[in-house]
Amino acid sequence: MWEWCTRSPLRQRKGYMKSFHFFKYIFLCTISIAVLFLIDSRAQPDSGQTLTTPASLSVTSDTAVSIRILCTGDIMTHTSVINAAKVKTVKKYNFLPSFELVAPYLQSGDLTIGNLETVLAGDSFGISGYPTFNAPQALANDLKEIGFDLLTTCNNHSFDKGLKGLKNTIHHIDSLGFLYTGTFTDSVPLKRHVMTEIKGCKIGVLAYTYGINGTLTSRTSRYINTIDTIKILNEINTIKSEKADIIIAVMHFGDEYHMTPSGEQKSLVQFLWRNGVQIVIGHHPHVLQPAVFDTAINRFAVFSLGNFYSSQKGNNKDIGGIADITIRKMPGDSLFKITDAHISIFNVVTWTDLSKLRYTVLPLDSTVIKSLPSQYPASWYSKMDTLPFFIKHLNSMNGIFFYDTTKTVNPPDSSR
Ligand SMILES: [Zn+2]
Repeated sequence: MWEWCTRSPLRQRKGYMKSFHFFKYIFLCTISIAVLFLIDSRAQPDSGQTLTTPASLSVTSDTAVSIRILCTGDIMTHTSVINAAKVKTVKKYNFLPSFELVAPYLQSGDLTIGNLETVLAGDSFGISGYPTFNAPQALANDLKEIGFDLLTTCNNHSFDKGLKGLKNTIHHIDSLGFLYTGTFTDSVPLKRHVMTEIKGCKIGVLAYTYGINGTLTSRTSRYINTIDTIKILNEINTIKSEKADIIIAVMHFGDEYHMTPSGEQKSLVQFLWRNGVQIVIGHHPHVLQPAVFDTAINRFAVFSLGNFYSSQKGNNKDIGGIADITIRKMPGDSLFKITDAHISIFNVVTWTDLSKLRYTVLPLDSTVIKSLPSQYPASWYSKMDTLPFFIKHLNSMNGIFFYDTTKTVNPPDSSR
């Protein structure tokens, strides 16, 4: 599998995955027909008739719908991250190598959502990192390429290059075909949420931030969703009136660098759950916080997914999570239910290759780590040792925390 990964461009991977799923589908259909055929033949052992496949054996008899939603935390480009992406080509910046190992995972989602915590105002505003972020617009092109479908744009950095920078960001991601919400080009936007339909399931997404770096005026505040429970409730009701099956609220809230959620975060999640939001995705603290999944009431929340892409190091700021949520509607059911939810952990690794500083989003997943290509350091095998700390820490808090990755990795084989 890795051979294929290293030789093929990212776009081809999606094609590979589609082919893989197609063959998997054909395989499962074949097995299903074979089993049904066997059951049918056992039910009529002495009929003496030549068995043919009756219409009732159609593989479409099971019309269960399953949708996989993936969500990441903060996508931030500090100056060193921007410099690492610099290339001497027409494109000028190439972020794709950073995401090579995580892209197949992001592309496997039906809906992949990220928090764009930088503006893309354009070169004329000056490309900059912390404290006023303005990433090269090529970042969004690369995020699209690696599998992101929807970007939330409201956070404390939304106005880092003023209202014009905010609007330019939306124009750019809109031109690339992204879904987006949280900030708006109009002071009275038609909608303050985004609705998408996947496999017949209507998914409404809301995004809110606690505020911005600086002060919002009565004029500028209209272009961004800030946390206000009355306004949120109105928007939830609008989404309900549009007959959404699933409502997702993406919240930029909490205390920076705290691994436990604040009282305000907890009460807001309760508020959102109580009013019909099934999935709450949090970020801003820049570190992972716990997730809770209540199957009895069909609700999931993660208080903070940490950084997805940044140069932040130390005190667990380079460890982040991807919320991996499956919703399903079985034949005869009227509602979609969350049938699986877990957090996949990754490490943003800073390393040097050919005298150049690089940033790589490394999934802490034994399958990925076992098949690392040779250009990556063998020492990354030990990165899996990071996991037990997080499991212990997050499991010790209230709530249930789910991990999908196996905990151990065999040492490098002799070929490395
Ligand atoms: Zn933030």
